[in-house]
Amino acid sequence: MPKKIPERMCVACRGMKAKKELLRLVRTPEGQLIIDVSGKKSGRGAYICREESCINKARKSRAIERVLSIKVEEALWQELQLIFTQERSGVPAQFEPLLPKKEYN
Ligand SMILES: [Zn+2]
Repeated sequence: MPKKIPERMCVACRGMKAKKELLRLVRTPEGQLIIDVSGKKSGRGAYICREESCINKARKSRAIERVLSIKVEEALWQELQLIFTQERSGVPAQFEPLLPKKEYN
């Protein structure tokens, strides 16, 4: 029997996607904003596509600030960028890249 895939809405494009295709950002009870890689941290969460276009969109529109009522530090955006850069280079390996790698000759 196929399991129902839980879907969440991206704060940037408002598209519904499977949880594993999204990154979870959590405002901890201590008032910190963290990237929840495990998806299990407690606190108020917001989801965003694992795509740079959505990160940039959320950054511009301040969607995360609005949803979580918290200031997003520059360091967090850099951390998000880093995650994408790592994923594109194949590290860590538990995530499938969303787009096929382009070859330039
Ligand atoms: Zn999105």
